[in-house]
Parts: sequence; structure tokens; C-alpha cells
Amino acid sequence: MTCSHQSIIQKNIEQLSQQIREAELRYSREPHSVQLLAVSKTKPIEALQAAIHAGQKSFGENYVQEGVDKIQHFKQHYSQSELEWHFIGPIQSNKTRLIAENFDWVHSVDREKIAQRLNDQREESKQNQQCAPIQVLIQVNTSGEASKSGTNHDQVFALAELINTLPNLTLRGLMSIPENVSDYASQLAAFQQLTALKAQLQALYPQVDTLSMGMSGDMQAAIEAGSTMVRIGTAIFGERDYNKK
Ligand SMILES: *Cc1c(COP(=O)(O)O)cnc(C)c1O
Repeated sequence: MTCSHQSIIQKNIEQLSQQIREAELRYSREPHSVQLLAVSKTKPIEALQAAIHAGQKSFGENYVQEGVDKIQHFKQHYSQSELEWHFIGPIQSNKTRLIAENFDWVHSVDREKIAQRLNDQREESKQNQQCAPIQVLIQVNTSGEASKSGTNHDQVFALAELINTLPNLTLRGLMSIPENVSDYASQLAAFQQLTALKAQLQALYPQVDTLSMGMSGDMQAAIEAGSTMVRIGTAIFGERDYNKK
């Protein structure tokens, strides 16, 4: 990667951080209540390195093996507390072990079987490395589209109840990927549903403090609605090329 790529990534991160701070002010959110998660799927080590140089510490990955490879690489250069790894992709049950052994956060827990497996496999991985509980978000399907992963609103509470009993998982909140719409009012309405649901969940589980919502195309509406973590890929690293992966 050339120097100019590095400086573009750095500039993008600085610009996004500023946009987030401005949005917090505009929508009367607490200063620094919205965190930037850099979504680095399909991007090479060098791109993540450039982001780290720009001060970025938390990264989101969608594909298990690709994410694990990056985590293992950066482990040689940074201590465990310096970087934070978030799994944000769909979870197949035969991939839960690698997730449990490597990631700090999982945003895409959407069924009981997955929660149970992550808990049990985190227990087994305690001997070698990972002792802290996995920080867990329940993925909610706000748009009701059959094609998208995520639980229905109705199932959120049963799943939360299970997660709350599992010692190696800490329930931190909700995540969603709403239907891709460009008009602001629809984006805002979908996010506000999730904010209301998080308030209900927080009343039952006081440690719930996280709403993972907002991507490059709908970050403003997400922050207005109450997001605490925006997941940004394209606006940091540029367009993804899935063919090169
Ligand atoms: C790819 C991805 C993102 C980032 O999307 P951009 O539009 O590139 O910002 C965020 N969240 C999830 C779950 C993703 O898969």
C-alpha cells in the first residue's frame, strides 16, 4: 500500500470522527457517546495498519477465517488490550468455536443455539487465552424482510433471558442492519424502533448500553435516533472489491 492510501485512510477517519462529534452536538447526544467501529472486511492488513496509525482501535469483521487471520497477525504486534475485534457477520453454527476463541464482541447473535455454543466454547478457550466474557449484541430484524438475518422483536426478550444466564457472555445491547433506503425519514423511523426496544431491554438488564446501528450511508439518522456505535467500512477504506478477496 502506498503512502497516499495511508493518508487517505487517516483523513477519512479524522473526517468521520469530526462528523460524529458534530452529529452528537446537533442531536443533543452526550459528547463521545457514539463510537466508530471500522469495518475492515475484504481489506488487507496494510489498510488496518493505516487505520491503527490514525488512532483506530476497534475493527469489525464479517468472515470468520479472514477475521481470525487478521487478529492473529496483529496479536504479534499489539497487546490484547490495545485492539478490539468485533464479529458482525452472519454466524453458522460450525464457525462459533473460532469466533469464541478470537473475538471480543459479537454483534450478530440471533438465536439460542448460537448463544449457547459461543458460551460453551468461550469456556473451553479460557485455558489458552480469552478469559473475559464475550460482549454480545442481539441482531434484530427491524424491517421484517425474510432474507435478512436477525430475530423478530418478539424473540428478543427470550434470547436476552438466555444470554443473561450464560457466564461467558455479557449482554450489551442490540444491532440491526435496516433495509437499504435512501430517504432520511424512513431510515430514522427504523432506527427509532430499535432505540425503543433497547430502552425496554435496559430496564430489565442494566448493563445494556450499546446500540450498534448506522453504516456509511445512514450514519446521521442512526446518531439522531440514538446509536452508540456506527459500523463504517466504505467511508474509511473505500469501495470493497469482493473479487479480489
Ligand atoms: C459491511 C458492513 C458494514 C459497513 O458498511 P459500509 O456501507 O461499507 O459502511 C456495516 N455493518 C455490517 C453488518 C456490514 O456487513
